[in-house]
Amino acid sequence: MDLLLKNKVVVVTGGTSGIGLATVRRLLEEGGKVAFCARTESKVQEISKLLVADFGECNVLGQAVDVLDKDAVIRFKDQVEREFGQCDGLITNAGQGRVSTFLETEDQDWRDELELKYFSQLNPINAFKPLLDRSEVGAIVAVNSLLAYQPEPHMVCTSSARAGVQNLLKSISVEFAPSIRVNSILIGLVESAQWMRRFDARDDKSISKEKWFEELAIKKGIPLKRLGKAQEAANTILFLVSPVSSYVTGAHIEVSGGLSRFI
Ligand code: NDP
Repeated sequence: MDLLLKNKVVVVTGGTSGIGLATVRRLLEEGGKVAFCARTESKVQEISKLLVADFGECNVLGQAVDVLDKDAVIRFKDQVEREFGQCDGLITNAGQGRVSTFLETEDQDWRDELELKYFSQLNPINAFKPLLDRSEVGAIVAVNSLLAYQPEPHMVCTSSARAGVQNLLKSISVEFAPSIRVNSILIGLVESAQWMRRFDARDDKSISKEKWFEELAIKKGIPLKRLGKAQEAANTILFLVSPVSSYVTGAHIEVSGGLSRFI
């Protein structure tokens, strides 16, 4: 299927690893132009070099930006406008989860988590909205978590913040229509740097990566019996950001291997 992304400009936050990087690559493979950001300058340089070699300098723009720094996000938008002259899609993907129960979570943890979850959406959406408005096919895809609907007590503030973000996305899908479509994906467990960090911190160092991920999938009760691949999340993001899903807004798609228990 032609996703109609040729020469479309899409911005991906958190584009140097996991789901974000897989999305950047898939967009470039579809003939799109991609601007991506992440905080670690050296990683942005390294990934940019690889992508430029594969897809050409005129199609790739990488910049070190913390999405919580509003002014830096606005400067990133200015550079995207200078380099590409337009923005047709925004993927708000940057972030990570926090593992803690209610009793373990300090007030400052709540503040940090709410800031991360909300402003990783608000700053890029506010900055890029004027450009998305000018596009004929403007679309936002937020990378959210199944925790928004199915909270986990050991990730109490992440779950709560994710639910609030989902509510926010629904509101702006109405406010931004018909100019910009707003959708989200709900991730269950997808193999990425986050999970590799948890694997590296495992108690039993003798257990292999394959075995650790297999046992994790069984423990979590994932019906498809494995974690998802970053590319599987990216494929769903591509569908939602592309003009192929032109009548879809205010919606979400689960990418969880069937993990949800709600209907
Ligand atoms: P990774 O850790 O593999 O990648 C995260 C990316 O975001 C990196 O490029 C990182 O680079 C960047 N990033 C993190 N914080 C910021 C920031 N403040 N500003 C700019 N860039 C930032 O994560 P995943 O691919 O696993 O996750 C992608 C999204 O999906 C995240 O929002 C995550 O919470 C969500 N998710 C993932 C799940 C999973 O199972 N993988 C489950 C549920 C949700 P750098 O550190 O250099 O900034």
